[in-house]
Amino acid sequence: MLNREIKKRRTFGIISHPDAGKTTLTEKLLLFGGAIQKAGTVKRNKAEKTATSDFMEIEKQRGISVATSVMGFEYLNHKINILDTPGHKDFAEDTYRTLTAVDSVILVIDSVKGVEEQTRKLMQVCRMRHTPVIVFINKMDREGREHFELLEEIEKELNISVRPLSWPIGIGSSFKGVYHLHKHKLNLYSANKKSISGDYIPIDDLADTQLDTILGEKAANTLRDEVELVDSVYEPFDIPLYRSGYLAPVFFGSAINNFGVQELLETFIEIAPEPQGRATDTRFVEPNEKKFTGFVFKIHANLDPKHRDRIAFCRICSGKFERNTFYHHVRSNKNLKFASPTSFMADNKSLVDEAWPGDVIGLYDSGNFKIGDTLTEGEVMNFVGIPSFSPEIFKELENADPFKTKQLEKGIAQLSDEGVAQLFVQNPGNRKIIGTVGELQFEVIQFRLLQEYGASCRFRPMNTRKANWVSSEDPEVLKKFLYSNASKIAYDKEDRPVFLAGSQWDIDYALGQYPKMQFHENSEWD
Ligand code: GDP
Repeated sequence: MLNREIKKRRTFGIISHPDAGKTTLTEKLLLFGGAIQKAGTVKRNKAEKTATSDFMEIEKQRGISVATSVMGFEYLNHKINILDTPGHKDFAEDTYRTLTAVDSVILVIDSVKGVEEQTRKLMQVCRMRHTPVIVFINKMDREGREHFELLEEIEKELNISVRPLSWPIGIGSSFKGVYHLHKHKLNLYSANKKSISGDYIPIDDLADTQLDTILGEKAANTLRDEVELVDSVYEPFDIPLYRSGYLAPVFFGSAINNFGVQELLETFIEIAPEPQGRATDTRFVEPNEKKFTGFVFKIHANLDPKHRDRIAFCRICSGKFERNTFYHHVRSNKNLKFASPTSFMADNKSLVDEAWPGDVIGLYDSGNFKIGDTLTEGEVMNFVGIPSFSPEIFKELENADPFKTKQLEKGIAQLSDEGVAQLFVQNPGNRKIIGTVGELQFEVIQFRLLQEYGASCRFRPMNTRKANWVSSEDPEVLKKFLYSNASKIAYDKEDRPVFLAGSQWDIDYALGQYPKMQFHENSEWD
């Protein structure tokens, strides 16, 4: 039973630079998967959420997607879980954490713009984790870049080998469709397709004159030449290479016109990895182990501001999760039971009685969870690979309403548990330093502290540009270092010391003075 459920599942993330078409593609995948009936649902859902939640006001004002959402659906006897990620760079940390909960990704690239800044950063994270990547080159209906040139740019800039599995015929106004290189069939383009069935034309041999009749002689000859070139330039597609993150299959399409989406989905089911095991600080956990394990990769404030509850998103790593069963919350050494865990199916949430490896469930939480927390059936271990990275912008948090000190303390602690920003505390004086990767996060914090906790705050700029976690094998050296650099030392939420530096130069200097100290770019160095 467990193995069968694992084999059925595919959990992946869709990533892209903003505006490449991530939301549109997600929606079309749901549409083809039969999970939603009408295009527009995902976007409308975004808008409705905005209307019911005050803090989402920021999303609305800025027209950006802050939250990660999870959408599940059944397709051809598979359970597909899509984890959507915010594209905006100020929320990159949220995206990085979400990538710890997926087994593969689909990367959307705009055919006109090619590789963009966020594409590069996100791929860096995928490469670090050897996450398998499928590339979808979108907006083929626009006058985009030359196909070979674009593929070369992807290989070079993203440092990954590519292998086209479909090949486009023309581009922009002359875009005629794609030829499926493996299945040897032609898929002709027409704008705004609602269904793709019946549109395939089998062409086993490209020399077939039928191709000239369908495409016209010129386009047919170009296709023949280009396919020959593709076969000579690129290695044959190799599933193990893809699964180990070294080779990215490439599809071309136009999400808004429903074109190329079905091929993508069908191939995805065939080749994408089923739920994979995960490392912990004591051992590697395989998904088919009988006992349940899972970890929290995201915490979301409740959309109803009247209730303080939050939803912790838990990725199931092994075994079977059951409702109303006690599980061990390793960090607090407490056993917790969940009466109303939810699953996320397309555009609605529903109660689940059981869930399997690869699934993401929502657990209502009144403040027990932090990002990265592990749940088990009793075994003491922690899933690793969900580190905090050094923030880039630091500001001191000042209380603007002395009558609301308690609320401010509570609010900021909870927001940092949710991963909205990192909180560092400096003593004596209990100075609170907030570290983020983008300015927008400060706006979110200020807004939410006021809306949800009734606390007002101001931010004071700081000269800090980098935070490095520090350690030393020699406790005496560490003690001396912390003492003599007290003004630059703060503590993270796990009470680990960090060195606040104005630049890399400060770190190099400190290292010169204390060669026995170690400086770490992220919180998970050992
Ligand atoms: P996201 O920011 O990556 O989620 O991008 P969206 O899905 O919101 O799309 C950004 C814009 O590109 C929207 O205006 C879409 O309508 C448009 N778009 C998406 N796919 C296509 C496509 O295949 N062709 C064209 N021409 N526009 C597209």
